Amino acid sequence: MVMINLAYLLASVCFILGLKGLTHPRTAVRGNTLGAVGMLIAVVVTLFDHAILSYELILVGLVVGAAIGAVLALRIQMTAMPQMVALLNGFGGAASMLVAGAALLEMLVIDPAAVQSAQFTIATAAAGLIGSITFWGSLVAFGKLQGYTLELHLKGQKFINAILLIVAVALGGWLVFDPSMTNIYWGLLAVAALLGVLLVLPIGGADMPVVIALLNSYSGLAAAATGFVLNNNALIITGSLVGASGVILTNIMCKAMNRSLTNVLFGVWVPSESVESADDVYAGKVKASTAEELAMLLEGAQRVVIVPGYGMAVAQAQHAVRDLVELLEDRGVEVEFAIHPVAGRMPGHMNVLLAEVDVPYEKLKEMDEINPTFAQADIAIVIGANDVVNPVARTNPSSPIAGMPILNVDKARSVIVIKRSLSPGFAGIPNPLFAADNTLMFFSDAKKGTLDLVNALKEV
Ligand code: NDP
Repeated sequence: MVMINLAYLLASVCFILGLKGLTHPRTAVRGNTLGAVGMLIAVVVTLFDHAILSYELILVGLVVGAAIGAVLALRIQMTAMPQMVALLNGFGGAASMLVAGAALLEMLVIDPAAVQSAQFTIATAAAGLIGSITFWGSLVAFGKLQGYTLELHLKGQKFINAILLIVAVALGGWLVFDPSMTNIYWGLLAVAALLGVLLVLPIGGADMPVVIALLNSYSGLAAAATGFVLNNNALIITGSLVGASGVILTNIMCKAMNRSLTNVLFGVWVPSESVESADDVYAGKVKASTAEELAMLLEGAQRVVIVPGYGMAVAQAQHAVRDLVELLEDRGVEVEFAIHPVAGRMPGHMNVLLAEVDVPYEKLKEMDEINPTFAQADIAIVIGANDVVNPVARTNPSSPIAGMPILNVDKARSVIVIKRSLSPGFAGIPNPLFAADNTLMFFSDAKKGTLDLVNALKEV
């Protein structure tokens, strides 16, 4: 037992150092490997644990799980990554509730005295409650991101949710009091399932990434609770790490959108009446341009800042963007990327896409670092970004994005915006940047437009 716990400690140290490594691109690969080594140690040591009944069943589970995981990972589109993460969180929650349930059934047979311990019963109830909310909530989040219309706004929904939570906690209390009533456990799972579904259903599809970060945190808490059920220290530590990092991530996302978590979870995002209409903002002021004209403009630039957004991800334009950077650099232009913390639809979305095409990470500048330098940029090229460059966040205190920190692209000498139309982004509001004197719109799909720009630049 001592050896097992020492090995778990070693695995946990690997996880913590791995997480630390993931905080910087230079150490991220090493961090990932350390985390994987930690997981290998934890899994192998657990296989040596005394309580294992059937290695055959474990092997079947490993093979089936690995096969499904590999197929999903190979097939998933980069833009569908949030859905994939939602599913994985959900499965984590499901595993916790099922393992805790199985442990309860098993212990009632092999060691009824142990079932009476408060640690075991409270942890079982907690794993069931949180695990079931996580699983069902994640399924709804997955469905919404996949584009299924899943909306339900019941009258008094918060009240119903509160009642469901009270019933679930009461069932948990009953289980602690009399753990031999296994039906109570299944009842608890059912009530928590309804609560999970009702909690996520009314939240707008576009807020799902924040909800997913929160559900990720829940899946960690469920795993930690299961760790107490099984007396497994590695599970307690990893569950706590996932729980804590999920909360930190949720907080970062809320801050970057200048919204509170309560507002995301319970608020309804209605466009404010004081938001100007698209006609007022754009009529007669938008200047459209062509690849050839823009190539000539770029030809004379010395410093260019590229601002990628959701549209670059949708169009999978990152390869074309890398080509554009190389071409500009060959001509002696200094090129940098300005990365907004919530550009795209998940944290790190732009970093992942640009790393995929080997853009050196030194070129990726965070918002606070690049913002003071926009005034020294000859040209800012906005590729499929909208809200993260909307100056209204600074100027209109009643706009839905008021106070959201944005990239000060409008301060650059000239701005080129590549997007297909004047359609709004996630926040649903017009963007005066597109009508600014120093802005030229290039209406095109991000990939096609960037490639056209590359070709035009070659001709100049
Ligand atoms: P936005 O959602 O503001 O805008 C994206 C723009 O991309 C649209 O206006 C659209 O315009 C354009 N677009 C779509 N498809 C294409 C295409 N194929 N080619 C070119 N352009 C295209 O994106 P941002 O990245 O600027 O901002 C992200 C938003 O998402 C923020 O409001 C943020 O708060 C929110 N959010 C981000 C999360 C995160 O973790 N990153 C989580 C939750 C929300 P058009 O149709 O005209 O082409």
